[in-house]
Amino acid sequence: MAGFKSNPGQDRCGLADWLEKGLVYVMKIVDSAAAMQRQSAAWMRSGEVVGLVPTMGALHEGHLTLIRRARKECRRVVVSIYVNPTQFGPKEDLARYPRPRRQDLALCRAAGVDLVFAPENLYSPDHSTYVEETALSQGREGVSRPGHFRGVVTVVLKLFNLMRPTKAYFGQKDAQQVEVINRMVRDLDVPVKLVVVPIVRDPDGVALSSRNRYLSLGERAVAVEFAQLLQLAVKKKSNPGGWLEQQLRKASGLKLDYVELAGKRLCAAVFIGKTRLIDNERLS
Ligand code: AMP
Repeated sequence: MAGFKSNPGQDRCGLADWLEKGLVYVMKIVDSAAAMQRQSAAWMRSGEVVGLVPTMGALHEGHLTLIRRARKECRRVVVSIYVNPTQFGPKEDLARYPRPRRQDLALCRAAGVDLVFAPENLYSPDHSTYVEETALSQGREGVSRPGHFRGVVTVVLKLFNLMRPTKAYFGQKDAQQVEVINRMVRDLDVPVKLVVVPIVRDPDGVALSSRNRYLSLGERAVAVEFAQLLQLAVKKKSNPGGWLEQQLRKASGLKLDYVELAGKRLCAAVFIGKTRLIDNERLS
């Protein structure tokens, strides 16, 4: 779909000319790794600043905030949409993870994204190479979701290799993911600058997440309570983690997974029905 920014006022001007002059906006959709690499090589040759926003789709305002930040800072904005199987455990929600592809593409187009990379599959049948961060990935999500960060780090490095971004945008919502990817980039000398974007919340305080759409109305009320308790906890002068853990154990409608203080951030995960939610907030 093409949108015309202005009339160039020239006779017999073809679409190719308009594109060349930057008068027409066309969002590219690429689904093959080889085509993606050809495009990123071309951008590299012409010295373009490329911003990558890696996502699993089912885009919401949290993702869009990352995309808008990239749009402000980079000449080219690339969004990847890939539900990466290697970061899901065998009992997790890979099969039912939402995939509203048309809506995602429309949101990307409206946000002025240059290219959406949406491969069907990124792994050869005999894929056998994984990247593992061995310190920061051990606690919290690493305990509850064994193998999760191995999958995340591997796919993020694959995306970096395919897209060669100058900058890559990640949300503070996945605090431990940011820590682990930061470490991988440092340890493996990956030439990319990471940009971390604050958590976007609904007006009721719940952190936006693609998984929120699993929640029934009653479960949503429990998610609000979870968010409120976290906000109260970070204001406690003494033992905010202990206080939050106690409150979450008492709360009805949810099952506590973990509460942990990581540096100055209080991080927590709960199950509400079958849905697992994570959240974090800086101590105040
Ligand atoms: P996902 O599609 O869940 O893998 O998320 C893609 C990126 O969006 C990750 O860097 C997330 O941390 C980020 N993200 C997801 N939800 C939010 C949110 N509520 N606020 C800020 N960033 C978010």
